[in-house]
Amino acid sequence: MADRRFAYFRGKFVPIEEANINIQTNSFHYGTAVFEGIRAYWNEEHKQLYGLFFKEHYERMLNNCKILNLQPGLSVEELVNITVELLKLCKHQEDTYIRPIAYFSDLKISPKLVGYKTELAIYTLPLGDYLDLSKGIKVKTSSWNRINDNMISARCKVAGAYVNSALAKTEAILSGFDEAIMLNPDGTVAEGSGENLFIVRNGKIITPPLSGNILEGITRNAVIELAKNELGIEVEERDILRSEVYVADEVFLTGTAAQITPVLQVDHVIIGDGTVGKITKRLQEVYFKAVKGENEKYAHWLTPVY
Ligand code: PMP
Repeated sequence: MADRRFAYFRGKFVPIEEANINIQTNSFHYGTAVFEGIRAYWNEEHKQLYGLFFKEHYERMLNNCKILNLQPGLSVEELVNITVELLKLCKHQEDTYIRPIAYFSDLKISPKLVGYKTELAIYTLPLGDYLDLSKGIKVKTSSWNRINDNMISARCKVAGAYVNSALAKTEAILSGFDEAIMLNPDGTVAEGSGENLFIVRNGKIITPPLSGNILEGITRNAVIELAKNELGIEVEERDILRSEVYVADEVFLTGTAAQITPVLQVDHVIIGDGTVGKITKRLQEVYFKAVKGENEKYAHWLTPVY
């Protein structure tokens, strides 16, 4: 466990207790901040902390900053280096979550994306499993639709868009479920509150397309790569209707926090035989080997911190 936590804040490393913003901060009021969720995995045998997809996360973050006209003024390489320094400073020796956020720091009242200064902060926290990986979870199809690209883009990890996720997840929890999946207004499945969705039917793996109001998930890409390389299955990217999820043999969710989480029940319907499916299990095995630095083939996914 890290003995002391620090944050990167206003261009330097400070104790986490000192990384505070003023209540008048513009982005705090309008959700006009772009953030990322990144993981680093501790390998006890290697005595190494492996940062996962650092470059890909910061590339996505800077792309999303473009959509919001946020200008953090740091390159992908600089952001990766700052993150490595921060992790070292905190002396993390456990699975760790990294949360960078770019926001408008001006103490001004107008909801706009021009004429304001951008700041970028990063903090870290120890994080084990976010959802139940071995027993699987129950998900509820939300009565809240997924945000549409021409309202707030789901592609963009923008703070304000997570009201949509929070409404769906809260409804699911209060109804006795673990997680929510959201639909588009046309009835196609978009994604979970913080996860992409996959189904397995007759040995085929299927996931909604990038044009379907989803985040361009980095774990989604990793799973597509692993399915092809390790299981010899080409993932099909196409629309999935709600009822097709019900009749799937397997359903799972992917995400940096969620990793590969099996879904055993959707609404009132038991998926497959109600146990974790073979393909889901196999993907979990190869995924965890790769992210923990135990498969050389995927060493390029990782940034060793120490
Ligand atoms: N969808 C949403 C809405 C998310 O918040 C996340 C988590 N970042 C994901 C999907 C999964 O994306 P990734 O695999 O890049 O973490």
